Amino acid sequence: MQEKNWEIETKCVQSGYRPGNGEPRQVPIVQSTTFKYATSEDMGKLFDLEASGYFYSRLQNPTCDTVAAKICALEGGSAAMLLSSGQAASFFSIFNIASCGDHVVASSCLYGGTYNLFAVTMKRMGIEFTFVDPDAPIEEINKAFRPNTKAVFGETIANPALIVLDIEKFATAAHEHGVPLIIDNTFATPINCRPFEHGADIVVHSTTKYMDGHGSAVGGCIVDSGKFDWTAHAEKFPGLCTPDESYHGITYTEKFGLEGAYITKATAQLMRDFGCSQSPQSAYYLNLGLESLHLRVERHCLNGKKVAEYLSKHEKVSWVTYPGLKGDKYYDLAQKYMPNGTCGVVSFGVKGGRTAAEKFMKALKIAAIETHVADARTCCLHPANATHRQMNDEELTAAGISPDLVRFSCGIENYEDLIADIKQALENV
Ligand SMILES: *Cc1c(COP(=O)(O)O)cnc(C)c1O
Repeated sequence: MQEKNWEIETKCVQSGYRPGNGEPRQVPIVQSTTFKYATSEDMGKLFDLEASGYFYSRLQNPTCDTVAAKICALEGGSAAMLLSSGQAASFFSIFNIASCGDHVVASSCLYGGTYNLFAVTMKRMGIEFTFVDPDAPIEEINKAFRPNTKAVFGETIANPALIVLDIEKFATAAHEHGVPLIIDNTFATPINCRPFEHGADIVVHSTTKYMDGHGSAVGGCIVDSGKFDWTAHAEKFPGLCTPDESYHGITYTEKFGLEGAYITKATAQLMRDFGCSQSPQSAYYLNLGLESLHLRVERHCLNGKKVAEYLSKHEKVSWVTYPGLKGDKYYDLAQKYMPNGTCGVVSFGVKGGRTAAEKFMKALKIAAIETHVADARTCCLHPANATHRQMNDEELTAAGISPDLVRFSCGIENYEDLIADIKQALENV
């Protein structure tokens, strides 16, 4: 039985690392910055990308590659790389194919850190973004494209708005304009949704969230489907389809094929120059998390659903958003793209606004107040008081975040305990 035909649960446990006779059962942590070679000639071949092998952990490390291979298998991709954070993954995923003077179309419902990276920092690098309403009809989305558009970007389930992206609609729009669709699949995880099966071309992750799952290591990952034909739009992607002078004139698509060109370029150029590499120790923690991802995600989703159902019936709760809840605006899209479950994060409002939300959170005994989501331990955040603190109530509403919004990230505890905790906390409001 071939590895690629394994079920996702088996891949979580077994993919990436297959030790040989007498080798360690656990993934070895190769805690080494550098690697030894017999001759300079051997090493020269690595520097010319003529041979594959390790020479410096800023570019590649065996532990990181082993764990990347597991995530690659989970997503059904052709190649993958680990990065130091989800932010680095989002940045590399675009900067690998767009430069100063280029343009990208992105969903307007994104993680706040990603929005800032795109709208402020990458804009300063000369890459312009047009943000489109993810619910807009395709005709509307098509109008956002320009001749210099190089990619489309969106989140499977947006953090914290919990909006489900119509991946097929965005893939169609991207492909009609000869550019790839990049999906941030952090919240859904490959357990619940594999964007490549719906037409996406590249997937990014903040592995800090469900993949690590234990609040141990910040990290990111990029996976390439290997299916986007860069050479069919060679004029748009000169970095992949014309010789790279910094590597003696090799052309990535010619030398590494469609399966390898994108990740090889991101490693050989961007990792070399920016060095956003993950440490082998962090990759080891990430792998421990991945071994139980399928079990944890199932429980996160059960808890999310139970908590959302409870909240939706509570008289002190003004509204609940959870794409796995019947009647939710995104329930049908969630059923289409992730029929087995969505995520463990529930957003809701407490009657009485900002002050009531504060009182409620202060009274929680199990759920902790944290700038984190998607962790084994239940945690929550009041964006109006934390990540979006600088905004007044009007600005918050414009950003789709009401002052009373509580982002409640269900862990893997027993849901009856979580509900009892919410119940007593609401009694304090
Ligand atoms: C947290 C998060 C990121 C950023 O990841 P870091 O690992 O914190 O850099 C990106 N996208 C989503 C959806 C996130 O939740």
